[in-house]
Amino acid sequence: MYIDLHTHTTCSDGTLTPEALIQYAKAKNLKAVAVTDHDTVSGNLRALKEGEALQLEVIPGVELSAAYTEGSLHILGLFVDSRNKAIRRATEKLQEKRRERNIKILRKLNELGIEIERSPFVENAYLGRPHIGRALCQLGYVESIDEAFEKYLKKGASAYVVREKLSEEETIKAIVAAGGLPVLAHPVTVFNAEKTVTQLLPLGLRGIEVYYPTHSPEDVHSFQILAEKYNLLMTGGSDFHGEHKPKIDLGCMKVPASLLEPLKNEIELNRRG
Ligand code: AMP
Ligand code: ZN
Ligand code: FE
Ligand code: FE
Repeated sequence: MYIDLHTHTTCSDGTLTPEALIQYAKAKNLKAVAVTDHDTVSGNLRALKEGEALQLEVIPGVELSAAYTEGSLHILGLFVDSRNKAIRRATEKLQEKRRERNIKILRKLNELGIEIERSPFVENAYLGRPHIGRALCQLGYVESIDEAFEKYLKKGASAYVVREKLSEEETIKAIVAAGGLPVLAHPVTVFNAEKTVTQLLPLGLRGIEVYYPTHSPEDVHSFQILAEKYNLLMTGGSDFHGEHKPKIDLGCMKVPASLLEPLKNEIELNRRG
């Protein structure tokens, strides 16, 4: 049996609703699925409810991007309590930064002669670059979301705008306060995974995402070794986004369900501790 501990829904930049994601996970015969939307926990209760209805284990989570100069640092929070004030405050702050950036990107595109309707991006702070990419595609400015990133949205491109983030310390603290396990997501995106791990461990890092679509077999092996060396829990997932990442399917990493028990034991220890 397999699990998938990294997925996105329409509450961030995925294209399946939380309910549809869980239905799809059930159809794929997954043993458990974690919902890890960017900068929001707003889909978690919906997914949990659907999980209960379908008797599928749902792990409420989140993916937070942290300010960090040595690569792109994303921290997954698994088993977070979505009602917790600290995680709510952190995600609200991040949503506000998103909204500000969306407006700046649209302004830059406008200067390039591209008109996109502003109101959805002002009203829905959870929207981000993939949604702007989709709009560019629908309006015929580009052929695909990939091309939108290449031409306009990726770092260094003509309409790129940096997004303000929380420090790695604030990020990890919010997850821990919400009872979650902070996990280093796709460690290939930081320049030196071991250095990052040693920096984040004292802040409360508990896990590392070993299985991920862009990890080579050598990467997987080296992250397993890191996990052992630093006593980190191992996780893995597809980073499923539905049609926003059409080549990535839910469950495609075939993450063994045996990884789940150590994670749950840790949560149990925390609760008792
Ligand atoms: P944002 O959160 O608004 O900065 O957008 C980042 C998200 O864009 C990432 O989480 C990816 O899911 C997505 N993304 C990055 N590059 C691409 C790409 N080339 N094509 C489609 N989606 C992308
Ligand atoms: Zn995303
Ligand atoms: Fe990520
Ligand atoms: Fe992700």
